[in-house]
Parts: sequence; C-alpha cells; structure tokens
Amino acid sequence: MSDTILVIDAGTTSTRAMLFATDGACLGTEQAELTQHYPRPGWVEHDAEEIWERTLACARAVVAKAGGAANIAGIGITNQRETICFWSRSSGRALARAIVWQDRRTAELCAALKEAGHEGAVQAKTGLLLDPYFSASKIGWAMAHWPEVAAAGDDLCIGTVESWLVYRLTGGLHVTDATNASRTALMDIHRGSWEAGLCDLFGAPAAALPEIVDCAGQYGDTDPDLFGASIPICGMAGDQQAAAIGQCCLAPGETKATYGTGAFVLTHTGEAAPVSRHRLLTTLAWQLGGERRYALEGSVFVAGSLIQWLRDALGMLVTAPESEALARSVADNAGVYLVPALAGLGAPHWRPDARGALTGLSFAAGRAHVVRAALEAMAHQTHDLMAAFAGDGAAWECLKVDGGMVANDWLAQDLADVLALEVERPAFIETTALGAAMLAGVGAGLFGSLEEAAAMRGAVRRFAPAMEEAVRTARLAGWRKAIDSVLSA
Ligand code: ADP
Repeated sequence: MSDTILVIDAGTTSTRAMLFATDGACLGTEQAELTQHYPRPGWVEHDAEEIWERTLACARAVVAKAGGAANIAGIGITNQRETICFWSRSSGRALARAIVWQDRRTAELCAALKEAGHEGAVQAKTGLLLDPYFSASKIGWAMAHWPEVAAAGDDLCIGTVESWLVYRLTGGLHVTDATNASRTALMDIHRGSWEAGLCDLFGAPAAALPEIVDCAGQYGDTDPDLFGASIPICGMAGDQQAAAIGQCCLAPGETKATYGTGAFVLTHTGEAAPVSRHRLLTTLAWQLGGERRYALEGSVFVAGSLIQWLRDALGMLVTAPESEALARSVADNAGVYLVPALAGLGAPHWRPDARGALTGLSFAAGRAHVVRAALEAMAHQTHDLMAAFAGDGAAWECLKVDGGMVANDWLAQDLADVLALEVERPAFIETTALGAAMLAGVGAGLFGSLEEAAAMRGAVRRFAPAMEEAVRTARLAGWRKAIDSVLSA
C-alpha cells in the first residue's frame, strides 16, 4: 500500500532523501555531501549536475528501502533557498554552475541599486531587502557574464534548486513553489506572480522563469525510468518555510527558530504581509489552494559556527557538545560577553562591516566563561530579534526550536530564561524534512489539511523560564553594552 512519503532535502552542504510514515516515523535516510566551489573570494558555486546525480542516488536508495516506488504515495521536496540554477530546456542539462545563496559577487550591484533609491520599491513588492543573498541579482549577473547562459535564448530555463530537481525528475516540468519564488526578489508577494518591473531592474529574463505553483498538489509524476515506476511529486517548500511547517507554526504568532550554522527565525503572520520597519524580511509561509500565508523572518549569520570556531580556530573545545558541561561548570559568565559578528551582523542590524568582540575580560575569566559567553550569545541575539518582531507587531508567545545546537539542554534553558518565554523542542529534530513530508502528505491526499498533518510532529520537551528577573536584566544590560561597542566601532 502506498502510504509512505519520500522527502528530498537538498541542502547547502549535503543532499538527503528520507522516508516517512504518516505517523511521522522516519523509516530511512540516505545522505551525500555536495562539493563547494569557491572560484574567487566571496563566490560560492555548486555543480547543478552533481546536485541532481547525488540527490537521485539518495532517492533511489530510499525507494529501495521502501520496497519499491509502489509503496510511496508522494514526494516532498525542500531545499536551500535563493541558490539559482541555469539549464537547457531541450536537453535538460545544466548550462552553468549554480550560484549559491552565500555568494557575494553582486554586493556592489546591490549597493548601487540601493544608492539609486530602489530599496523601498523592492521591499514593498518582495518583502526583501537589496542584498546579494537573494536570487535576482545573481540571475542578472549570469546574464551579463556567462555567454552560455545569455546565448541560450528561448532554450534557457532558470529556477531555484527545487525547480531544477522537478525538471529532471519529471523530464521537463518547469515549476517553482511560491515560497522559493518569494526568495528570488522577482515575485510580487502580494499577487503571487513574477513582476515585470523587477525582472527589468535586475536583468532577469521573465520567459526563462518557471510557473509559480502551490506548496502542495499533484504537480506531475517522476519519469518511470528513474525509480522503476512513476511517483507523484506532491509537496515543495524552501528549507526555512518547511521547518516552520514541520514545527506546526500554522497560526499567526507561532514562531520557530532553527539554530544550525546560522540561526533563522520565522513568525507566521497569517493573511497579513506586514512591511517590516525593523529590517526583518516578509516572506511567504506557504501557498495552498492559491491562497497565500505570510511570515516575518530574521536571519542571524553566526550561531553553531561560533562553537565550531571556538573548537577549530581557538582549540577551546574538542567537541561541540562539550560546550554544555563547560557552561554548567561555572555559576555565571564572570562579566564576559561574546558578540559573534564574525561574518558581520545580520538581522536586525544588517551590518556586514561589523566585527566580533569579546568584552569584560578579567583574571576571573577562564575557558568555561568564554564558552558560556558564546552559548549565551544565542539567547542575546534572539532577544534582539524578539524586540524587532514585537516592534513589527509579531510578538512571540512561545519559541519552537530546532537545529543541531539545541541538542544542548543548557542552551535551550538559557533561551527560555533570557527571552522569558516557553521554549519547545520536538523529540524529532529534523523539522525541515518533516515539513516537506507534511506538505507532500496533504498533496497526496493522505491528510485533508496541514492541521491534520500536524500529528506527524510527535512529542515535544518544554523549557519554562526560571531565571530571576534581576539576573536577566543584568545579562541583557551587559549584552547591550557589548553590542553597542561593536555597532559604534
Ligand atoms: P546545519 O544544518 O546548518 O549544517 P546543524 O543543524 O547540523 O547545522 O547544526 C550543527 C551546528 O550545531 C554546528 O555548527 C555545531 O557547532 C553546533 N552544535 C552541535 N551540537 C552542539 C551542542 N551540543 N552544543 C552547541 N552547539 C552544537
């Protein structure tokens, strides 16, 4: 009986396939690393053919674990957002490397557009800011600098990673889901369609863009030769949107925070698409039945990478989980604060020029205090985001956390304490894949709605705030002083 769901999670450093039962149980996983290409400083590229080949290999292995394609009701796809692929409509082959979301090659172009006064109009239509992060300027750059892309004319197809994978899986269906489209800076998020003025502004050829579709539905079937029989593709969403769905942020105000390499916070805002006054992003939460739901998003560039840096560059830790015992081994931070602006500061500051700082050092401070200050920085950064979200009318009532860092119980408790908010951590931490499975379950007709699919999330552990208010106030005052010194440097 076909009652399992195959999820493809095409991430930045690796691509995976996972098999889910309708009760949320994960029945199998296959993973393959992706090669990162850094042709010049600040440039990051992927080989789109490699993404396809490795994803297909993982998916085939999971289909075999499922006992064949006939046992799979549908495929859900989630992916690294903003990364943009270029391929031939006729041959289906990649024409150039994919330009990855982290790539900064269009920083000057975006600064010039900002200087020329375009940011207000871009923000009003797309909910985004003028930053190289989003796909539009990368497309314009490829059209101007890669002859194999520019010369393709009518044969050119452009799309984000889920769009590329669907084209190859189906042998020629050119679609993108509305959440991925909302990260290109080419979509009018209020209408759900490509915007001609934005295509002109960035030099993106509208005819090469995919059709924008819902996040769940029957888009098309996979080529029968790929898995022995065809499987319907039934769900798609960008990774952070999928994580928000996997965390069941289905009603306005519900918020998730993912603490991986960086930290990404999304608050569901329902039918409203508020324009942020605090430099947060407005983005699509999902589109179902042609109806759009929105979210506010705050991105922090440095989260788990700070722990990796303490481990690899400073040798302060042997393993990342060791940070928990070290933090517990001291009563407080001894006045030490770490501002993790190692790659500039993201939301709500957006200061690419900012640099990190370790403040308040005295002879009382040791290794454990510095490690504790690094973990504490997560709650401090999240607290600044919480204020920005509240300022935009999206106050949080509870924070649903996931990502590799929140395996750390001390960190989860510190978030609850400093935010003075209940923190909820699901037992099954792969919320991104789960969200894609929920969407595919809806698209395949296994569930009537996302609310019904929410049963897949399973058990959660709650962390209640327990910090004395005086201690909390002192912590936040110490952080304010430290971050102000960085912002004014
Ligand atoms: P990504 O999906 O961005 O690759 P993950 O969600 O897998 O990241 O999280 C990995 C990050 O979490 C690493 O940067 C690592 O330093 C950090 N990390 C893992 N375990 C712990 C822990 N117990 N305490 C603190 N940080 C941790």
